[in-house]
Amino acid sequence: MPRLVSHPDEVKIVSRRFGQGAANIDRYIELGGYESVKKCLAQTPDWIVNEVKASNLRGRGGAGFSTGMKWSFVPKQSPKPKYILVNGDESEPGTCKDHLIFLHDPHAVIEGTIIAGLAVGAKTGFIYLRGEYRYLLEIVEKAVADAYARGFLGKNIFGSGTEFEIVTQTGAGAYEVGEESALMESLEGKRGIPRIKPPFPAVVGLYGGPTVINNAETIATVPHVIATGAAAYAELGTPRNGGTRLFCLSGHIQRPGVYELPMGYNLKKMIYEVGGGIANGNQLKAVVPGGSSTPVLRPEEIDIGMDFDQVGKAGSMLGSGGVVVIDDHTCIVEFALRTIGFYQHESCGWCIPCREGTDWLQKSLTRFHAGFGKAADIDNIQYLAENMLGRTFCPLGDAAAMPTIAFVKKFRKEFEDHLSGKPCPFAREGVPQLTVA
Ligand code: SF4
Repeated sequence: MPRLVSHPDEVKIVSRRFGQGAANIDRYIELGGYESVKKCLAQTPDWIVNEVKASNLRGRGGAGFSTGMKWSFVPKQSPKPKYILVNGDESEPGTCKDHLIFLHDPHAVIEGTIIAGLAVGAKTGFIYLRGEYRYLLEIVEKAVADAYARGFLGKNIFGSGTEFEIVTQTGAGAYEVGEESALMESLEGKRGIPRIKPPFPAVVGLYGGPTVINNAETIATVPHVIATGAAAYAELGTPRNGGTRLFCLSGHIQRPGVYELPMGYNLKKMIYEVGGGIANGNQLKAVVPGGSSTPVLRPEEIDIGMDFDQVGKAGSMLGSGGVVVIDDHTCIVEFALRTIGFYQHESCGWCIPCREGTDWLQKSLTRFHAGFGKAADIDNIQYLAENMLGRTFCPLGDAAAMPTIAFVKKFRKEFEDHLSGKPCPFAREGVPQLTVA
């Protein structure tokens, strides 16, 4: 479980109630909770959408799409009910922030969900937790029940005459369900595989109705945007990247944890000052900047601002905010193998480039790591991964291919060093090893 950490450079907005007992509804109210939804009840839906648009709040799940823009795509008139779906299926390795929100501040998610409902005219919201977060369900369900008991949810929220209901649901523990259309399939009780798009969820989503799907951190941020005002929130970040972000620092770092920093905060500073530098006096070898699916950066590439645009310019992605620090005692071939092992395991198997591609990549890297590789394998691994890119139904195929390509391109020398016919000198327990004959 990520521990609560603190650093003077943090700007605590989403995390400001962490450790304050705010899972209790009275404490949440005492700390200013449910004021934003009251403010929104006195405004028009367009005002709410425009405020969120102007805040430059971008999706915290990974894609970084403008939240207000996403809300504006929902048709104003619809013969079918509209829905808000909170994606709490946090499964990207290296990411553990939504977990803290559900644990410490579940009412912020509830309040944000109601506000999203008011903005698009939805009367029902779903909070979907990943299967492994089942133990958080009790906390979230208690918060929902308390909100109903106070009249904050139900047929007549805050005595306004407006209806809004919230339903909670857990998954069965599949990474794939973090993809929005697979999430809807799962919620509808079907196998969690993606839908063909278009139509997009804003038009045809859950149960065929227009649906807004937002990551839990995004939704928990909304009440703060309304409370502080769009301009003040936007100013905390960089142009087009409003506000702050929960960054999950993990790996070979002195002070791992979840830190809330302004968008655009320098990655090098984050590692060496906020995180206290590399653990055990070792040197930095590489950084995965946004969860395991994002291309790795070399030490000379980390003097960049952590926002969607700057990390994109550096050839990687801000993703889900999971910053994984890799020291110079780590074998990159082993790291690539572990990464692809995760995606091979999580591939739902629906489309061939992902199902077969991840399997072959895992087989090739296992053999390579054990010292059975051939020179041609290096190019073949890269070629195979490149041919998965953009050819799969959902982003899992790309999530497996992108880091693999970066590992081979940026650390080719380490791959070449494995051609000596000896097992990897960095080999650790738990990694599949073949015996050299
Ligand atoms: Fe399933 Fe992978 Fe295809 Fe996504 S890309 S639909 S996870 S097989």
